[in-house]
Amino acid sequence: MPTTQFDLIVIGGGASGIAATWILGQWRPSTRVLLLEKSHGWGGRMATRRHQEWVFDHGALRIESFGDYNRDLWALGEFNLPDSSSDSTLPTRQFSHPHTASRGMTAWAKRALAQFSPQTNTRLEAQVVKVDRHDSQWTVTLNSGEEFTSTHLLITAPAPQARDLLGFSANSPTTWESAPTEWRERLLADPRLKSPPVYAPCVTALAGFRGDAASLRQAWAALSSQWPDVMSWRWNDEHGPSTQPALSLQMNEAWSRAHTLDEGAKPLAPSPQATTLILQNLKQAGLEPDFFDLKVWRYAYPVGDGSAAASEAARSPSLNLGQKLWLAGDAWAGVGVRAAVFSGFMAARQIAEDLA
Ligand SMILES: Cc1cc2nc3c(=O)[nH]c(=O)nc-3n(C[C@H](O)[C@H](O)[C@H](O)COP(=O)(O)OP(=O)(O)OC[C@H]3O[C@@H](n4cnc5c(N)ncnc54)[C@H](O)[C@@H]3O)c2cc1C
Repeated sequence: MPTTQFDLIVIGGGASGIAATWILGQWRPSTRVLLLEKSHGWGGRMATRRHQEWVFDHGALRIESFGDYNRDLWALGEFNLPDSSSDSTLPTRQFSHPHTASRGMTAWAKRALAQFSPQTNTRLEAQVVKVDRHDSQWTVTLNSGEEFTSTHLLITAPAPQARDLLGFSANSPTTWESAPTEWRERLLADPRLKSPPVYAPCVTALAGFRGDAASLRQAWAALSSQWPDVMSWRWNDEHGPSTQPALSLQMNEAWSRAHTLDEGAKPLAPSPQATTLILQNLKQAGLEPDFFDLKVWRYAYPVGDGSAAASEAARSPSLNLGQKLWLAGDAWAGVGVRAAVFSGFMAARQIAEDLA
């Protein structure tokens, strides 16, 4: 009979959930943790896709070092400093020292998982649909109907999904019938939960080529310098794991909004014109991909803009909501992998103290 009782359940296997689980295993290896991820792979918006001989990073393309706060976790990713001369669109506003991953972004996630403590259980394709509080215990229900309980709960899903789970949307199955009323009222009035960060679609194109990398890159350099709709891009064969030229291309917010079919849909889908327009531009520059695909992500735009939300995020990168419930992730700490990892660490620190 599998265990269903844990000390901590972590919802979400992206950067923040993985960082929190990993560091807790280092600090308190005896803690019984269950990490649940709804998709079929680890890393969340740090995503690597393989197709034939092409390997694309298509969520986070480059990240800032975790700094002093955890070199061991950083080392797992084999991150490199890219040659910025080959990439004229490096988002210098956000990243002072951007690194790419020599084995793809998800390698970091997989290696961190391999270092989890033996007391940690993990599940993929495990979507949490409901959370509840009974008799000082958290109960988490999966879409399969399975239930798990824990004393502590950490939610690292992006803000819209986290709010759904916390009963903010009308159709949420979470009703808090047996949770303390005063706590539930405080939760629903929490200012950061009431006004979460804005998520916007980001159309990402993956273009795989067979051919001479140097001339492809030259053609791309000319095109990218006069294509204002492109937010960011990266060739994955130069500093990454692809053996063939593999271009990831992220369109800016305005273009992505204009070319996403329905922003409320799950999952988001690109308009039919999106493919045609991107391929036309590539073709005019002499770039004809042998493989091409589009994905629309939900992208949280940075809060590092001096706003009240930004100062709040800097002061408290994870949310302790009482009743042994924490929220972590880029939604609360400011966008980007570094912020998400930091947020996971901060939540894990408080949870470790609480468990002591
Ligand atoms: C297109 C794009 C480009 C980006 N580029 C960069 C970049 O270059 N550099 C950078 O630093 N950052 C970049 N980012 C941002 C960066 O990817 C994120 O800030 C970071 O990965 C967020 O990590 P997280 O753990 O907070 O959230 P996520 O990575 O979203 O992880 C949350 C996880 O929770 C899971 N989940 C959600 N709901 C449930 C549920 N009910 N049950 C179980 N699991 C659930 C999700 O499947 C997901 O895996 C980019 C993001 C996008 C979308």
